[in-house]
Amino acid sequence: MSAKVLINGYGSIGKRVADAVAVQDDMEVIGVSKTKPDFEARLAVEKGYKLFVAVPDRERIKLFEEAGIPVEGTILDVIEEADIVVDGAPKKIGKQNLENIYKPNKVKAILQGGEKAKDVEDSFNALWSFDRCYGKDYIRVVSCNTTGLCRILYAINEVSNIKKARVVLVRRAADPNDDKTGPINAITPNPVTVPSHHGPDVVSVVPELEGKILTSAVIVPTTLMHQHTLMVEVDDNISREDVLDSILKTPRIITVKAEDGFTSTAKIIEYGRDIGRLRYDINELVIWEESVNVLDREIFLMQAVHQESIVVPENIDCIRAMLQMEDDKFKSIEKTNKAMGIK
Ligand code: NAD
Repeated sequence: MSAKVLINGYGSIGKRVADAVAVQDDMEVIGVSKTKPDFEARLAVEKGYKLFVAVPDRERIKLFEEAGIPVEGTILDVIEEADIVVDGAPKKIGKQNLENIYKPNKVKAILQGGEKAKDVEDSFNALWSFDRCYGKDYIRVVSCNTTGLCRILYAINEVSNIKKARVVLVRRAADPNDDKTGPINAITPNPVTVPSHHGPDVVSVVPELEGKILTSAVIVPTTLMHQHTLMVEVDDNISREDVLDSILKTPRIITVKAEDGFTSTAKIIEYGRDIGRLRYDINELVIWEESVNVLDREIFLMQAVHQESIVVPENIDCIRAMLQMEDDKFKSIEKTNKAMGIK
């Protein structure tokens, strides 16, 4: 029987998760929700999704009707049918939805990385915490930056125990659909305090790294991807080839070479366009092969994270773990990847 998934908040993450659920053979989208009757709401209906008003306010149904967008009711009219809700609402609203809608209606829910670790039972990354989240009710899929860091730290930890990790994150200023956020002519330390919150966020998934990971971050005027520079000290005297081997064995990581023309995040996104990925999504973490180096038990490397799509396959595996649909994380990852065409 296929799992019934409701997507509450059909924005950048929500619409991608809906499409990813729709291509799996063991789950189905029973509805998506929007607060406003805009072009995204219209497109959702044209794609064949049942549309609901995201907030439990029946007055809002009229707004959709007036805009000529068929709507099936509010979120409360469908919630009972759902086995699980994937919340795609803006930062901090997910927590409100958890308390006001999901818990009172006793439905399992996945929140996104804009919410705090303390507000849910656990934090999810398919490689690290699939087993811990198995059968749980309220879980957070960590942010795009944290997901990227969790994947590479898993690959490194498979070769040698991590003693210390130092990471500098260069964050995109805004998503491509965002016409409000900046900066457009500055590099902004954000947060200006060091360490940044990204280290503790990784620890919410990998408690073994408590006290061992330190991050700092800046925001730059780009919309395409984040970029990270990592310096990771390990216990053993490993080689560059050992690290590259492990990267290649780890699911959802790909390597690219500047020599092949992948000289920037712009070129990686161009690759996404050229291979015909929907919305040019690059769900894989991307490592620049030339950047991987090991000096005296310290690994250096540079990576790129497509913020809008890296967390999408994680949401699918999180659904399988929480609904106990598959108990082997690697089987779930493989199934998700195959259905989504992830390398
Ligand atoms: P978004 O603004 O693109 O989409 C949010 C959607 O939620 C919109 O469609 C909006 O209409 C809807 N919404 C508004 N109020 C709502 C409510 N009360 N209930 C349900 N839906 C409501 O946001 P996004 O970028 O998709 O971010 C969603 C979550 O994912 C946030 O927690 C964010 O931090 C996290 N996240 C975002 C990215 C990214 O790069 N965009 C990456 C990883 C994680």
